[in-house]
Amino acid sequence: MSYDILCFKHCNSKSIFCKTIPEKCPICNIKLINLSIEPFLLPYCCTKATNNPTSIVLKPSHGSFCNDYNITNDMHIGLVNSQCQLYEYDHRGITHNNFNDWSDCIVINDLIPESWYYHWDEVLSQLVINPIWSSSNYNPASFNCYNFIIEFLKLLNYNNLKFIDKEHVFNEFFLPKLRYTLKYIYIYRKLKNNCCYIA
Ligand SMILES: [Zn+2]
Repeated sequence: MSYDILCFKHCNSKSIFCKTIPEKCPICNIKLINLSIEPFLLPYCCTKATNNPTSIVLKPSHGSFCNDYNITNDMHIGLVNSQCQLYEYDHRGITHNNFNDWSDCIVINDLIPESWYYHWDEVLSQLVINPIWSSSNYNPASFNCYNFIIEFLKLLNYNNLKFIDKEHVFNEFFLPKLRYTLKYIYIYRKLKNNCCYIA
């Protein structure tokens, strides 16, 4: 099922969201001929981990953002190197390139300049072979994907990414993008049972 959402305006300043353009305006009920803003595709809130080198990626631990996520759900984080190799740490230990589970995630990139890509890859490749990231060491509350990311950033030792904790990672990196995602999800779910949503 497509996650596409269209947006347009007609008779007033309110945005009208829909999956397909209706025949009549849901506000004034007039046949849609002249739109004050031409329909455009709302930028999708998520993207594939594969297309995003040297990034940190975030997704719900279970299911997808659009269909399953709510704000109380656990999140899972992974790391992508400059060659789009994806690594994550969870109850299985380190998992490499499980792209199927990462087709809809929030991506934080532009963290480092290109001159740091090699170092990013080196640090990551050393990190993932450390036996500390075993399935037996995993603890959902105290030793999890956040520890993996924070240890990586510590070793990376890049300017402003040095001294961060779990809260920092979440608030600094993910929260701004998550806000947009939550708005998108809200509209997407409204459109499951309604032809239009007016905001
Ligand atoms: Zn109208």
